[in-house]
Amino acid sequence: MAEKMISAGYEEVRDIKDADFYILNSCSVTAIADSKNLSYIRRVKRENPNIKTIVTGCMAQLERENLLKNDLIDYVIGNNEKNDIAEIIKSGQKLKVSDIFSHNNFRYEKIHEPFRTRASIKIQDGCNNRCSYCTIPFARGKNRSNSLKNILEQIQIFVEEGYQEIVLTGIHIGQWGEDFSSPLSLQNLLEEIEKTSVKRYRLGSLNPLELNKNFIDFLSSSNKFCPHFHLSLQSLCNKTLRNMKRFYSEEQIFNLVDYINIKFDKAFLGSDIIVGFPGETEEDFEITKHNIEKLNLSRIHVFPYSRRKGTEADLLPYQTESEVKKMRSTVIQDISKKKLNNFLNQNIGTENEVIIEKRRDKKTNLLKGVTKNYINVLIDADDSFKDTLKKVRLISVYDEAQMKAEII
Ligand code: SF4
Repeated sequence: MAEKMISAGYEEVRDIKDADFYILNSCSVTAIADSKNLSYIRRVKRENPNIKTIVTGCMAQLERENLLKNDLIDYVIGNNEKNDIAEIIKSGQKLKVSDIFSHNNFRYEKIHEPFRTRASIKIQDGCNNRCSYCTIPFARGKNRSNSLKNILEQIQIFVEEGYQEIVLTGIHIGQWGEDFSSPLSLQNLLEEIEKTSVKRYRLGSLNPLELNKNFIDFLSSSNKFCPHFHLSLQSLCNKTLRNMKRFYSEEQIFNLVDYINIKFDKAFLGSDIIVGFPGETEEDFEITKHNIEKLNLSRIHVFPYSRRKGTEADLLPYQTESEVKKMRSTVIQDISKKKLNNFLNQNIGTENEVIIEKRRDKKTNLLKGVTKNYINVLIDADDSFKDTLKKVRLISVYDEAQMKAEII
């Protein structure tokens, strides 16, 4: 959107007081995300009462004209219309949101200079699943994949611009290619990426069902794949998983995580867990907790269940009290801290590759970067190492999420 606005003659300014427009690309995955969106808008209008606010993204898609009832919001632009943002603003049209399910093709325009050390490529949008708690399919539509040709061309652009790592993102990347007239799989895409000159690639979150042994074998044979898995587990209790409409079992997760740990030495294994799903009893939660303790994960992102309008779970009886959700979140967060600390300690003395970022760490003024297996490291070295890929040795744990490393 920034590129679109700039090429249409607009200019990016740092200070809200100097801006004519404020674009909020909203998330709506939880009720907290919605309320944060509105608080950003309030803050911006307070700082600059003349600014025009534009809400796009998932909240715009789901709430549409309802948002225009709020005096603080001037434009509402849907997910599929984002690419036309500059024209819509110029036309003065206040509401432009199409039916997301009417779109069968992925809309993609190539981007340049994504402002970061790692460049993200969106490989697909939408999701064909219907987990009972989730509004994402209603905000993003059905699975639509970016073409192999587009993705490879975009990688080439990033490589020529000097990017050494790409991150493949999307809403449900495991469904990439299923919508093509001759269907392809995520593994087919990665096999093609292996042939490009990009140095390394990372995957966004994966549904555990989409990681079979064959795929893990392929990943473990790659020199470009960053051994960093983000598994969207959501629960580790069979009853809750069934109610969530997530079609895998505790046993399958144990087999999967064990297999990844056999095939990879010290892969980072992150995961998402929702606590307090409707009907999750104390016993159910204990099962999830017990299984998480036993599983060899590196970190867990925990989300208290958020009730979303229009979902099946919203209609379920036995909604969990917020106090209980908070308590369960704290329990899982504490386990996660221990697991991450464990993981970092296991990495002391190991060697890894780091892409050193262009900016130094604000707090320590040290150089910073991320290892292939997703550890944030701080390095005491001079500016000539910025924006380079270097081999390092991890020497100590610096704090709860970072390690110190030295260049070899
Ligand atoms: S697979 Fe992910 S995006 Fe799709 S419905 Fe389930 S939680 Fe939502």
